[in-house]
Amino acid sequence: MPRVVTRFAPSPTGHLHLGGARTAVFNWLLARHFGGTFCLRIEDTDLLRSKQEYTDSILASMRWLGLDWDGEPIYQTQRTDLYNDYVERLLQSGHAYYCDCTPEQVEAMREKARQQGVKPRYDGHCRERGLGPGPGRCVRLKLPASGRVAFDDMVKGPIAVDVAELDDMVIRRADGMPTYNMAVVVDDHEMGLTHIIRGDDHVSNTPKQILLYEALGLDVPRFGHVPMILGKDKQKLSKRHGAKAVIEYEKDGLLPEALVNYLARLGWSHGDQELFTMDELVSYFDGTSLNPSAACFDDVKLAWCNAHFMREMPLEKLCDLVRPFVSQAGLGDLDHERLRPLCVMFRERASDLVGLAESFRPLIVAAKDLAYTEKDTKKHFTKSGGLHLQALAAILAKTPFNAEALEAALNAYVADNGLRFKEVAPPLRTALMGFMGGSHLNEIMAFLGREETLARLERACALCAASPN
Ligand code: GLU
Ligand code: ZN
Repeated sequence: MPRVVTRFAPSPTGHLHLGGARTAVFNWLLARHFGGTFCLRIEDTDLLRSKQEYTDSILASMRWLGLDWDGEPIYQTQRTDLYNDYVERLLQSGHAYYCDCTPEQVEAMREKARQQGVKPRYDGHCRERGLGPGPGRCVRLKLPASGRVAFDDMVKGPIAVDVAELDDMVIRRADGMPTYNMAVVVDDHEMGLTHIIRGDDHVSNTPKQILLYEALGLDVPRFGHVPMILGKDKQKLSKRHGAKAVIEYEKDGLLPEALVNYLARLGWSHGDQELFTMDELVSYFDGTSLNPSAACFDDVKLAWCNAHFMREMPLEKLCDLVRPFVSQAGLGDLDHERLRPLCVMFRERASDLVGLAESFRPLIVAAKDLAYTEKDTKKHFTKSGGLHLQALAAILAKTPFNAEALEAALNAYVADNGLRFKEVAPPLRTALMGFMGGSHLNEIMAFLGREETLARLERACALCAASPN
């Protein structure tokens, strides 16, 4: 197996979003597939916008997604000296030089180039001046006079750029701070990276970074640039498309394995397969089959994917997961004894944990607090509905409260009176649930128990009696 070291390198200027999460997923999968190493680097050099709380939030989202990393995260702000060591190496080897051109001078060079109809760039004014260090002097990389920078992108295939398209980029600013590309190359080398999957907003940085590797005499890792995630309307993904930060999905009761599965499929495929366990993803994802065209985010498909994982997961795990959402919904702290039958009844109907917890409400509140849907009470709480409920109440007062006995009692009532089920079930369902939804009537009643069931029927009977029809 090839040695594989990957990384995720977020800038802590916000919470982890879908695009970043997908980049993390791809790098994590590649490392895990090859039994390699997955590192985390916090690119916190933008001092104005970087915040510790965002770093904490990104790390928490990574943990929640199950994307564990190897070793401690690296912080770029702690490595300025290291970057400067490499800048010194480039100065000493003649691959870099000091430049004292003012921003105005550089802008004038650009303007001149524009007027000549060529690519605006620094014209190499200080290349051969042999300047030493001094205030107001930055350090620039001395690019080769000609040639091409070529690489074979894991996603986009072969990419080549003419050196003439690039200029002697600044690698250390006049204030002594190494620039972004310099820091990234040093880090990626020091961390031993072999593969870098990132958003294609970085594809124009890659030739510059490769020139830095070459000037330093370092091995160049493999790059893969994944296209941005778009909304359904092919526009840049935003809140408008229903996309949220990873922590918001967590709060909304999505399952991390569903989100990882969904993100992995946004830009990668394995035949027609849509649903994968984590183990399957790890075993199939080898860095190939990455799609060079942009994927569109689809919140309906994400919900579908989540519903699948809610159905498939072990019942006890689902109980554990839904429990905090139940208390958050104000339904109290329910133990597994109570949660188990609720999950069995409702897991097939919910697409997230918030919805699942909410679907328990009619069965948790006291009969007197049950909320009715007007449309259903109007339709089903009729005089004849009330007669059925009254008759059923009398039967249920003597029926053992388990699902089998309750089912038999209901069937017998319908059969013995020559009725059809659809005459009896709607008023009963509305009485028990408050609306025409829920699960099997016998299971609902078994869960409620005799007292709560009869209390619901009594309350409904009173409403039926008061009904005009
Ligand atoms: N910090 C950069 C970003 O968040 C990633 C840089 C890279 O992957 O090389 O876009
Ligand atoms: Zn200069």
